[in-house]
Amino acid sequence: MTVSLKHHFVDALPELATPTQAHPFAEPQLVVLNEPLAAELGLDAEWLRTPDGTRFLVGQGLPDDAKPVAQAYSGHQFGGYSPRLGDGRALLLGEVETPQGLRDIALKGSGPTTYARGGDGFAALGPMLREFLVSESMHALGIPTTRSLAVVATGEPVLREEGALPGAVLVRVAASHLRVGTFQYARASNQMRVLVKLARYALERHHTDDLQPENPPLALFEHVVDAQARLVAQWLTVGFVHGVMNTDNVAISGETIDYGPCAFLDSYNPGAVFSSIDTGGRYAYGNQPTVTQWNLARFAEALLPIITDAEAEAVEAATAVLDTFPARFNQAWMAAMAAKLGLAPDTDGLVDLVTELHGYLEASGVDFTTFFRDLATAARGDREPGRGATLELQQLDAWLEKWLAHSPDADAMDRVNPVHIPRNHLVEEALAASLSGDLAPFAALLDAVRRPYDPIPGGERFTQPAPAGFAETFRTF
Ligand code: AMP
Ligand code: MG
Ligand code: MG
Repeated sequence: MTVSLKHHFVDALPELATPTQAHPFAEPQLVVLNEPLAAELGLDAEWLRTPDGTRFLVGQGLPDDAKPVAQAYSGHQFGGYSPRLGDGRALLLGEVETPQGLRDIALKGSGPTTYARGGDGFAALGPMLREFLVSESMHALGIPTTRSLAVVATGEPVLREEGALPGAVLVRVAASHLRVGTFQYARASNQMRVLVKLARYALERHHTDDLQPENPPLALFEHVVDAQARLVAQWLTVGFVHGVMNTDNVAISGETIDYGPCAFLDSYNPGAVFSSIDTGGRYAYGNQPTVTQWNLARFAEALLPIITDAEAEAVEAATAVLDTFPARFNQAWMAAMAAKLGLAPDTDGLVDLVTELHGYLEASGVDFTTFFRDLATAARGDREPGRGATLELQQLDAWLEKWLAHSPDADAMDRVNPVHIPRNHLVEEALAASLSGDLAPFAALLDAVRRPYDPIPGGERFTQPAPAGFAETFRTF
């Protein structure tokens, strides 16, 4: 089989792409393949499992007309601007056409590129399996995300602080890899013609329903503001903490991208931070909407010169759009919270109910995920699971009275409140087993998170909170 790889991005924006070849790993071995995704992409899973197919998955033996490239971008990392980041260890193989539009096929960990900045260009197996698992979970939860097609072991060690680790390549699939940082790069390098082309390209790729806007960059900005507001609202409703919301990790498509130090809340805590490098808590759970808006302001700054020549006018137009962010976020978040509570979005007193609920959650420290399933049980008439999990009985009882008065729909709640998320302790356990050669726990957890709402008979361990003490010390890297 040969895969037909398009090269629309590099043809449209060669200024933002550097032709690059993958490192020639001698003995790549497939570790995990996403068969449903392969089918969606029109790729033959059986072939991908052959030696030739697996070589394709690490960027070898590409069709003659393929144009693999590393992409250029800038980014604000923890607030500080880096004018030149780019794909230091990633490679865009090309795009495939699907009924849903173009999909990028890209590699992570495929060797150093011109953007490596002293990095080795490689990736370790553990973090790549982690991205596979968490991105697959997000997809199953209905949250826009890049996907993972495969993890391939490279057979070559990578050196990290912990020592020599097995190397791997992740094959990532995305609606595109355009980032806020891509626009910042074009802007900072003063390539106005490229910036105009880039905005056009992004609109054409992601908003085929809006191809003749009066002001294309402003229209693009508004689409991205909207998509990002809805995305971060969805993160909050499942307790997701991205961990590294730098502007190079904000996708123009509105997909969650770059699963590095991400994690899920155990107990509810707006200040929750898991990343070992986020010492200031910039990317804490509850800061994520504010940070998203900050990132969008950086996007607006990059677009300003192509919105209109008159700077004051451009600032005014972009600010008016940016100012819609809080309302868009609130609307999406309240609607999602209403659904989690089995209520209609126009329920009287919803905002108070949600605000008080979060006060209770923070005071009680109950498990965030379990709590909403216990609420559905309460809606069916049995309050004991929820009451048994808390010491803040008075506060819970008072809140339950108010909420139950609205006759919540328990079945609808069970369709939106997951039982299976990639709980941090389960992910760690599955990765540790994988690294010692036992992939069974990884496969079992992957299977669970792919059906987020349906308890598995005998699978209680996948739904239970972390063992005592785990959450307090858990850190991501
Ligand atoms: P990230 O924190 O994954 O978003 O990466 C930030 C930047 O560092 C991007 O430009 C990456 O391509 C680059 N980078 C991260 N790890 C490596 C590595 N091992 N080798 C080369 N570049 C890397
Ligand atoms: Mg990144
Ligand atoms: Mg990363």
